[in-house]
Amino acid sequence: MSVGRKNRSAVPASVRRGHRTVVTGGAGFIGSHLCDHLIQRGDSVICVDNLFTGSMRNIRPFLNHPHFSFQQHDIREPLSIAGSVDRIYNLACPASPRHYQRDPVGTMRTCVQGALNVLELARIKSSRVLQASTSEVYGDPEMHPQAEEYVGHVNPIGPRACYDEGKRAAETLFFDYHRVHDVQIKVARIFNTYGPRMLENDGRVVSNFIVQALRGAPITIYGSGHQTRSFCYVDDLIRGLELLMESDKSVTGPCNLGNPEEITIEEIARQILSQSRSNSELHHKPLPEDDPKRRKPAIGRAITSLGWKPAVALKTGLEATIAYFSLGIATHGREATVASIDSARAARARQPRRRDVADSRESSF
Ligand code: NAD
Ligand code: UDP
Repeated sequence: MSVGRKNRSAVPASVRRGHRTVVTGGAGFIGSHLCDHLIQRGDSVICVDNLFTGSMRNIRPFLNHPHFSFQQHDIREPLSIAGSVDRIYNLACPASPRHYQRDPVGTMRTCVQGALNVLELARIKSSRVLQASTSEVYGDPEMHPQAEEYVGHVNPIGPRACYDEGKRAAETLFFDYHRVHDVQIKVARIFNTYGPRMLENDGRVVSNFIVQALRGAPITIYGSGHQTRSFCYVDDLIRGLELLMESDKSVTGPCNLGNPEEITIEEIARQILSQSRSNSELHHKPLPEDDPKRRKPAIGRAITSLGWKPAVALKTGLEATIAYFSLGIATHGREATVASIDSARAARARQPRRRDVADSRESSF
């Protein structure tokens, strides 16, 4: 289910039709929703991904689409795209602590070398380029809520630094390319986003809790559970990314994109238990090092410059996400589920212009 889909295309048709758009990280959670959306609105999309955390299953519905192509490529290597490129969304980077800490040196290189390669492509092709930055640039923040002016509180030598400092360095490169080479840049600082197609084994809190609740397994609360996050449904984020990309040239960001509804980790655990009608118990585990205590975006800039604010309530977004994971865990078993999903996707790929390509019935399990 794409619960916010009707709200996604807030950009006038005259602006949005017919771009040739590169999406790095397009086979991942957010990237595949973005590819889906861009194809639906009439772009030609070139998805570039090394499949580190992404999956072909996420993009299988579009593989036969005449306006979609996939390049398996690591953005740490120079990018070569034939022909013109109007827009580049740089999403390639593992995003969950579990995955970005799996190969920390590789993560830092993806952030920095990847940004350089993407920016060089933008410079050569005169394309507009958007960086998927993150609330992690604020670290464990001392300012609450976090506004874009806040320069952050990041431990440069901790286990999260490969990602936090990598993303900070990438922002630096974006602004230097803008100042030195006049590249048109857009920097989005994305806060915790959730929805269908999150990886089941991603380690992120929403997917972990939902899968644990559905399986009747203990809900693993790290630390006291009093730490907070603010969760944005993926459809809202896609709309924000599009609006930022198509905003006036003078709008470079950084621009926070997130849902300011703040909730403790214990509260979201209880909400997921209630919405999934699960009897799982809460089990406390040690808090990971440098885990931020509070996080909530100040979104005044997005409201003023883009006319954007989230529209999907947590309850509604969780419903869609729980439905997605329920299907994957359904009694038919994993392989049968994948096979049926794949055939549903293949059927939909034959009708590429329909606006319901991505919904909660599609699983990346
Ligand atoms: P994801 O792990 O699902 O997607 C990342 C994609 O990038 C995957 O398909 C992966 O295979 C690909 N990738 C990783 N390294 C690569 C490389 N070197 N070359 C090419 N492809 C590579 O994560 P996501 O949640 O979809 O996040 C997408 C982007 O948004 C990331 O840049 C992330 O930092 C940013 N972001 C996400 C969140 C969130 O809550 N999901 C929050 C803040 C920022
Ligand atoms: N978390 C948790 N149990 C889990 C996974 C995460 O309590 O099974 C906590 C984690 O310690 C953090 C919050 O939930 O405080 C969000 O974690 P996530 O990895 O989703 O995102 P991030 O820390 O990058 O914001």
